[in-house]
Amino acid sequence: MARPLDLETSLADRVCVTDPDIIDQYCVDWTGRVIGATDLLLRPNTHQEVATLVRAAGRRRERLLVQGGNTSLAGGSVPLVHEILLTTKHLDAITVDPISMTATVGAGVTLSQLQSEIARYGLIFGVDIASRGSATLGGMTATNAGGVHVLRHGPMADNVINLSCVFGDGSTIEPRETLLKDATGPALQRLLIGSEGIFGIITSATLRLRPRPRQRTVAITPLNSIDEGMEIGALLRGHVPSVNAIEYLGPEALELAPTRSPWERAPGGALLVEVLEPASALVDEFDALKLDREWVIGDTAQAIDGLWSWRENIPEWIARLGKPLKLDLSVPINRIGELYRRAQATAEHAGLRCVCFGHLGDGNLHVNLVGGDQSLERSSRMIYQAAVDLGGSISAEHGIGTLKKEVLPLMRSTDELHRLSQLIEIFNPGRIINPNVMLDS
Ligand SMILES: Cc1cc2nc3c(=O)[nH]c(=O)nc-3n(C[C@H](O)[C@H](O)[C@H](O)COP(=O)(O)OP(=O)(O)OC[C@H]3O[C@@H](n4cnc5c(N)ncnc54)[C@H](O)[C@@H]3O)c2cc1C
Repeated sequence: MARPLDLETSLADRVCVTDPDIIDQYCVDWTGRVIGATDLLLRPNTHQEVATLVRAAGRRRERLLVQGGNTSLAGGSVPLVHEILLTTKHLDAITVDPISMTATVGAGVTLSQLQSEIARYGLIFGVDIASRGSATLGGMTATNAGGVHVLRHGPMADNVINLSCVFGDGSTIEPRETLLKDATGPALQRLLIGSEGIFGIITSATLRLRPRPRQRTVAITPLNSIDEGMEIGALLRGHVPSVNAIEYLGPEALELAPTRSPWERAPGGALLVEVLEPASALVDEFDALKLDREWVIGDTAQAIDGLWSWRENIPEWIARLGKPLKLDLSVPINRIGELYRRAQATAEHAGLRCVCFGHLGDGNLHVNLVGGDQSLERSSRMIYQAAVDLGGSISAEHGIGTLKKEVLPLMRSTDELHRLSQLIEIFNPGRIINPNVMLDS
């Protein structure tokens, strides 16, 4: 049998997988909605191997799709046009530099692996997402992932210091020593952040770390409406410097919970707040801000995890309803109530179930539509349009992938899209890597 991509035998033996039973596990996305197919899976172990594989694919005009943890909610991580799949999972080295307070990680290191490694040094990473057990730092960088602490630490773009990569034409940015400052002209590396692989494959990233906070407290309050949550969130953001997260749990999401909540009725959902101070200090803040209302408060590790589980388990509860279409919208924070109502009204009109939650402190609402496939596309289009009409975005943090390509022009002008295509042609000519992601080839 011919060696895949005409690779040297020893490399082919190390990295190529053709067993369909193994390959199939990589071809379905997290929601189960997006299903792809391929005949070849590549599992490189080093930056050099990635470069060799990209060059070999380029010579043969074969196209590659790069996959990290396959937690994309935008359909960007499975091969839909029969690309060869390249998984970064085996790029798994971690080096911590406690003096620079940085970690350099292979693209395939999961967020959980990083978190446990740096905990030994009393350090944390500023970006945290519920898919931490599978999502990789390479995938998170490629999607500019946000998560629950954006209002304090920003998204990945604010936390990646440097990265190495292999562009689609086989050229590379090689791994370098960690420098916290480097003013030697535009940093090409930054182009890769949020690029979803359309320019090349990130092979490693150097990440900024932070000291572990001495104290965390989480509090949840039931709401009469999402607007009430927005107002409380604005007060806390403006007056409590230690705010670390402000999250929204929609009433229809809470109804899916398998257990009874520790708070009374929550007709407008609930607001979760995390601060970096003791519970007693938070109670004083609530008093000072006249936020005298029902709060369920936890400040031990167990209680904090228990309260966060109300927010972080929502995607799993939704998955039990069916295969959701996930819209990830952002609007100016004071319009989030309007967006919520428009999404609910659109879904109700179409007979769809609409379950919302999100990062209220960032104006980011996750709208999950479940049900009737025929009305889904039209309804989602209307909700995207509503977000744009409210001054918002069709994707706050999940990216464009394959599912939002058609609505990208709602956000980007013809000039911008043309410039983007020109950049792709420079770095990834012939679209060897991720030909089907973000823009059509
Ligand atoms: C339960 C759940 C909760 C989530 N919560 C959040 C959240 O709070 N915030 C948030 O932002 N996202 C969230 N996500 C979405 C998802 O976890 C993120 O988009 C994550 O960054 C994807 O990482 P990954 O390694 O799984 O990438 P994948 O899903 O494998 O890939 C995502 C995209 O990046 C490209 N890519 C992957 N690795 C590389 C690489 N090394 N180089 C170049 N391109 C690459 C892929 O081709 C694909 O287009 C959530 C997902 C789930 C399932």
